[in-house]
Amino acid sequence: RLFGDLLAHWARERPGDTALIFGDRKWTWAEFDERVRRLSGALAAAGVGRGDRVAFVDKNHPACLETTFAAAGIGAANAVVNWRLSGDELAYVLNDSGAKVVFVGAELRAALDAIRDRLPALERVVVLDEYESFLAGGESHTASGLDEDDGVLIMYTSGTTGFPKGAVLTHRSVIAHGLAAGTAFPIGPGDVNLVAMPLFHVGGSCYAVSGFLYGEPSYLTREADAASLFAAVRAGITHAFLVPAVVAGIAQAGEAALTAFSRLKYLCYGASPMPLPLLRTVLAAWPDVRFAQVYGMTELSGAVTALDPAAHRDTTRPERLASAGTALSGVDIRIVDPVTAEDAAAGEVWVRTEQRMAGYLGKPEATAETIVDGWVRTGDVGRLDDGGFLFLEDRVKDMIITGGENVYSPEVERVVAEFPGVVEVAVIGVPDERWGEQVKAVVAGEQLDADKLMEFCRERLAHYKCPRSVDVVDALPRNATGKILKRSLRAPYWRDRDRNV
Ligand code: ATP
Ligand code: MG
Repeated sequence: RLFGDLLAHWARERPGDTALIFGDRKWTWAEFDERVRRLSGALAAAGVGRGDRVAFVDKNHPACLETTFAAAGIGAANAVVNWRLSGDELAYVLNDSGAKVVFVGAELRAALDAIRDRLPALERVVVLDEYESFLAGGESHTASGLDEDDGVLIMYTSGTTGFPKGAVLTHRSVIAHGLAAGTAFPIGPGDVNLVAMPLFHVGGSCYAVSGFLYGEPSYLTREADAASLFAAVRAGITHAFLVPAVVAGIAQAGEAALTAFSRLKYLCYGASPMPLPLLRTVLAAWPDVRFAQVYGMTELSGAVTALDPAAHRDTTRPERLASAGTALSGVDIRIVDPVTAEDAAAGEVWVRTEQRMAGYLGKPEATAETIVDGWVRTGDVGRLDDGGFLFLEDRVKDMIITGGENVYSPEVERVVAEFPGVVEVAVIGVPDERWGEQVKAVVAGEQLDADKLMEFCRERLAHYKCPRSVDVVDALPRNATGKILKRSLRAPYWRDRDRNV
């Protein structure tokens, strides 16, 4: 199965039906397929061939989806790059991608010009103002000789634990994800799939492709801001994938927002831990919405487990609300002791699936560390319950070791989040002369009393897990996908010490 076959299929079966909606513009399957073929031709004429990369730097834009399909159509891959990166970061990522052609939004042109001399592989810059004429200049192209294992997307990891790495996702991996995701939250006749998360993340690009697989319309927004999301619900979207930080924004936006979103059929969320109080709020506010939590990662083309709608409303197993659910079809999960590399009750989550990336672009050592005998080491600590429900305990790198005991930061965060007035929390390890590391809570919220908060924890958690100190801040640092950057919270405490923050 190839990306091109997918478009050709719907262009044949449903030529006049809507494929994509963006603002007040719409494209039918026939139009979208035709535009993608022209863009393939234009890219080929610009010297892009099999095994090459192009890149895209802008907020969400339909041209990014067209570029992904068009590149795939000639055996090339689209490196979708975070438009919020600084000049140095942008230079690093674009260089790493080795893109020959870069599509760039008009507002980002100056940023690109400033680093252009640091990008030796770059041959052509297409500012989006010129995109239509670039596309129109292409001769419709139909591919041959492509392989399912050709890269189609270069997706950079979020850079939560280090420098972002470019995962090479393939026709096979992305389509396998789409099919598996579609069994967990089916899209069918009459449905409209919202794509609001950034396309430079798997929750944007791979989620979008999973919608395309089913031949129903996708509704793309430039960003996941409140105004765009409201416009989308008013326009009748039925399915959405949102990260918990965005769901929190909706929940805080007041009654009107809660009512508007109660009309959704499926709300899929994931990519970072979902605070339980927030989940309970939206479950109560949206009784008819089917919730699906997904857990996954860039290296796996997106979701590999899902907590399905029934489990969200299953009052006989309430503890499972805190779980990431069960393996999607075609996904095997092992829990492995990080020291002995043997199967264990709690340990690192290893995943085997066709959704696996081909590797990290240009990083054979990092690839060999991550993929072991076909299994992907996720870097997450977890355990499975009697029904195969995955409970994520922490990231290996965020786990706190204090006096020889392992403290999983999310377990403490869940308790702190229940303390009245806490809006956001991150629990980190800071240096401790005696115990190696000490548990610290960093919180944002209203009228927080640190002593009362610590006492609240002591009533609910084993002594060694309780925060020994609390920092109150205005807001926690987050990256573009809403993940809390614990590295930068830890850094000031570990300066000159030997924790790899
Ligand atoms: P980097 O690999 O560069 O440090 P990253 O791991 O944050 O960044 P992503 O691939 O975007 O980059 O994120 C995958 C990670 O997100 C997972 O390994 C896991 O830690 C976290 N995650 C994903 N889904 C969930 C979820 N449902 N609940 C909790 N954590 C999640
Ligand atoms: Mg990662």
